[in-house]
Formats: sequence, structure tokens, C-alpha cells
Amino acid sequence: MKHFDSKKFRQHFPLVCGNPRLNTQVKGLSPLVYLDNGATTQKPACVIACYQYFYQNINANVHRASHSLSTKATIAFEQTRDTVRAFINAKSNKEIVWTKGTTESINLIASSLGKKILNVGDEIILAVSEHHANIVPWQLIAEQTRAVIKVLSLDATGKADLTEFDKLLNNKTKIVCCAHISNVLGKINPISEIIQKTKSVGAITIIDGAQSIAHFSVDVQTLDCDFYVFSAHKMYGPTGVGVLYGKEALLDVMPPYQAGGEMIKTVSLKEQTTFNSLPFKFEAGTPNIAGVIAFAEAVNFINQYNTIEITEYEQQLTQYCYQALSKIARVKFIVEKMPDIPVIAFTVKGHHNHDIATSLDSYGVAVRSGHHCAMPLMEYLNISGCLRVSMAPYNTFVEIDYFIKCLMKIIQQENDSSIEVVSNNVSIENGLTSTEIINQFSNIKSWDSRHREIMLLGKQLERLDKNLRNEQSLIIGCESLAWVIATKNAQGVFYFQSDSDAKIIRGLLVIVLAAFNGKTALQIKSFDINTYFESLGLMQHLSPSRGNGVLAIVDKIKKITRV
Ligand code: PLP
Repeated sequence: MKHFDSKKFRQHFPLVCGNPRLNTQVKGLSPLVYLDNGATTQKPACVIACYQYFYQNINANVHRASHSLSTKATIAFEQTRDTVRAFINAKSNKEIVWTKGTTESINLIASSLGKKILNVGDEIILAVSEHHANIVPWQLIAEQTRAVIKVLSLDATGKADLTEFDKLLNNKTKIVCCAHISNVLGKINPISEIIQKTKSVGAITIIDGAQSIAHFSVDVQTLDCDFYVFSAHKMYGPTGVGVLYGKEALLDVMPPYQAGGEMIKTVSLKEQTTFNSLPFKFEAGTPNIAGVIAFAEAVNFINQYNTIEITEYEQQLTQYCYQALSKIARVKFIVEKMPDIPVIAFTVKGHHNHDIATSLDSYGVAVRSGHHCAMPLMEYLNISGCLRVSMAPYNTFVEIDYFIKCLMKIIQQENDSSIEVVSNNVSIENGLTSTEIINQFSNIKSWDSRHREIMLLGKQLERLDKNLRNEQSLIIGCESLAWVIATKNAQGVFYFQSDSDAKIIRGLLVIVLAAFNGKTALQIKSFDINTYFESLGLMQHLSPSRGNGVLAIVDKIKKITRV
């Protein structure tokens, strides 16, 4: 077993470690500081190389051909199944089903098992902190079977509340779903207790291990859960590969999820089709062969290291980051006290989380902002969203220092400039035109400067009266709250007033309104907004959610001015 040395470990990850091609300056400005590992981890060189090796040397379909190349591919594919079985200490390879990821694993269980065992009035318990992937499939199946979802609240430390669980659990409970660790809270849920208590009423446990699997070893036999699901891409493996561990006895009685090639034993147009044995019954069609084989590289990579040493390093990083953040007066942690894994969620008083995240991005720091696919949790916490820093063992203390320095600079800059906001207001008729915006942007080359310009533009936007920020003016599809209202003069010319709780969106609103203000409905309809955005070099820099937000603004304007 290799001794864990963070510097040496980092060297395995080309995207973060100094490979001249990949250690380019993000958006031409600064080195990448990747603190979004909860979303997906970076990949070690061995995983990346495995793809090339596979396609150059053993590419063939698995299980079905009688030629040697296919045999080679099948052996490597099935060896990964055994590697993963050993990794989580499952009893048998029959209990390891390949899926696209955690999401598909849960959908498979909900669809197959849910339909089989749920009846009217049966109950499914899930924690309020679950990722949407562990909520929505259950909502769909509950609707079809008329089962009922019961929501488990959290205790003061941010973990699933065992006292509340006792109150919810009864003989109508058929399924209990709980994340091993929430992707926002970073706290280890008491899943052993939950699993044992669930057994006492004969119900089934599904543990979402998406966030835990990269941080400590999991033994499914010791846990004694019925299902444990996770994604390869969150543990240095490829995207598009997921694991569904299920107890053989349960998988055996579950009907297939998808149908097609490979999942059958016999197909007849005269008699009933019979299904393949486990795990193939659940693996219809050609799987992600290269991905699965490369996943073995990721598991073997992790297996080389002493996980206790890695955990220790992760805890040191977490503590360092947590303490540095706690010294910033405006930072408010989502859960008090240190998280159990390197996932720290927080808000910054007086600043929208998207504004902080986009500003950090302009310094080359990648963090996540928003609802983190946990909208019920956001509602429970009474926040619209938050920032999340999630670290991996290749992150360094120097990177944390840089992140904290950037964050403090952003907060300071925003505070200094917020004094100017009121005096900068410009009435709607005197707002900038699209030509003026294009001219203003034409000399700005870097995204960092463009970003600053958008933030500055946001200050020109007259704030919308609180009473006008309502359901009617709300822009649906924008991740931040944003509103727009239109007034039409006697000549049929439209003027717009708009606002958002995020500064970046206010800046983007100025840009969009510059295109539409002072125009008739027909002029608005025929305005080529895509060419306009292209000339500003906007869309390629905005994240998809922010880009969709801009398009939602355009849609709303087109809808309210439709002739
Ligand atoms: N569950 C949790 C706790 C997660 O954090 C995630 C992804 O972030 C998922 C489920 C969904 O994983 P995937 O998108 O890989 O299917």
C-alpha cells in the first residue's frame, strides 16, 4: 500500500497539476482552483489513458460475440464488476448492476421494485436533505401506485433525525431512502441505525452513496442495507457509469427495468420471453464498456492508498478552510460545526450566491452555487440557495488560501461599490442601446473584464418596487429571482423595468433590455438576439443555468409583448 503524499497524489491529475496543456489559465487569467469535487472529481492519468488503450486494443462488444476480441473486452468488463464487488464487499458479482449513475440506479429501483411492492397507502420515507435524484423517482412511483411519501426532518447537527424517524416508521412503511451523506450538508447520516430500525418493520432500505463513496470505505454486508447506489465519476472514475448494489434475493424477484438485447434468456413471438440471470437482467443494450473498464482503473488507483491517511488529509483541509471561512464576518454556514467530509456549504450575508460564484470563477476558482439539486432542503432551511466548496485530496492549502483571498476581495469590492448603486440609477428611457452595449464590449477581451463590466452594468438598473416583484412579473426558468414588467406607450413602443436578487442577473438584464427597450412588438419579435449575444461573447462564458436564465428573460419579454 502506498503512503499518501498529497503532492505526489496531485501529480496524477493532469487537469489540476501542471500539465502544460491543462494547467492553462482558466479563461486566460489564473490557474484553476477546482473546488467542485462534490459535483464530479477530476480524473487520474491512468483512467484517461485506459480509454485510449481500450479503443486502440480491445474495442469490441461484450458478452455477445464468439471472437477473441469480444472475449477480451468481456473479461475486462466483468473483471471490473469483481473489482467493484470487492471494493464495497458485496457477496456476489450478481449483486453489482451497471447503470449510468446514481440517478439511473435509483430510477431502476423505484420503477422495478416500487411497482412490484407498493400499494395504495403504503409509505416511503425519505430525508428532506435528499438530492432530487432520490426524491423525484419516488414521487413518480408514488403517484402511479398511490403510495405516500413521508419526509424525515433533520436534527440540529444537520443529520437525519432518528427521533423523528421513530415517529414516521410503522408497518405501512415499505421503503426508506436516505443519503449516506447529503451533498449540501456534508454530514454522515446515522444510516446503520436507520437500516436496523427499518428492518424491524420489514421495509427496504436504499442508501444513496453518491457523496460518501469517495471519502471512506463502504462495506455493504456490514451495513446490511438492501441497496447501495453510487456514481463512478464522483470517485475519480468516468462519467456515465454507475453502480446499483442490491441484495441478490431482492434483485432476483424484481422485474426488468428496461428491455432489449442481453437482458433476455429466450425471446419468442409465440411464447413468453424469459429473462437473463443476474445481473444481466437489468443491463439491456450495449453498456458503457470503455467507461466500466476505466472505472476499474479508478478503483485500483484508490485501493493503492491508505484511506485513513487520505481521510486525515481531507479533514485537515476541511478544518483549514472552515476556520478561514469562519473568520469572514459575513459568512454563514449552512450547518454549524465542521462537516464530516470536505463539503462546506455557506451563504454570504448581503450577497447572492450566484454573484459570489461567478466572481470567483473570474479568478479561476470553481465552486458550486444554487440549490444543489436539493430544492426541498433549501425550502426547509428557508434559503434560495447557497455556495458549496467541495474538496478532494489533490487540493492544497495554498489553493484554499487563494480561494479565501479571492472571496474576501470580492466581498470587499462589492461592499465598496454598493454605495454607488443608488446614485447610478438611470431611468428606463435613457438606458443604453444595444449598439452602445456592443461598442462597450468590443474592446474587452478577457472574460474577467467582461464579468466586471456586467456587474457594473447591473448597478445602472433601477430597482423595481417591491410590490411589482410578484408572480406575474417573475421570470420562470431563471435560477435567481428575476422580474420584468412592460409598459406600452400610445405609439405601441415598449419600455421595460426589471430587477433580480443577483447582481450578475441585473447586469444581464441591462444587456437584454438594451436590445428591447423602445421597440415595438414587431421589432422585438424580429430582433436577432442570438447574433447580439454572440457579438458580446456572452453565451460561451455563461454556465448553462445562467445561459438558460438569460434565454428565460428573452422568452418572458417576447411573451408579454406578443402581438
Ligand atoms: N445523490 C447525491 C447525494 C448526489 O450528490 C448526486 C450528484 O451530485 C446524485 C445523487 C446524482 O448523481 P449522478 O448525477 O451521478 O447520477
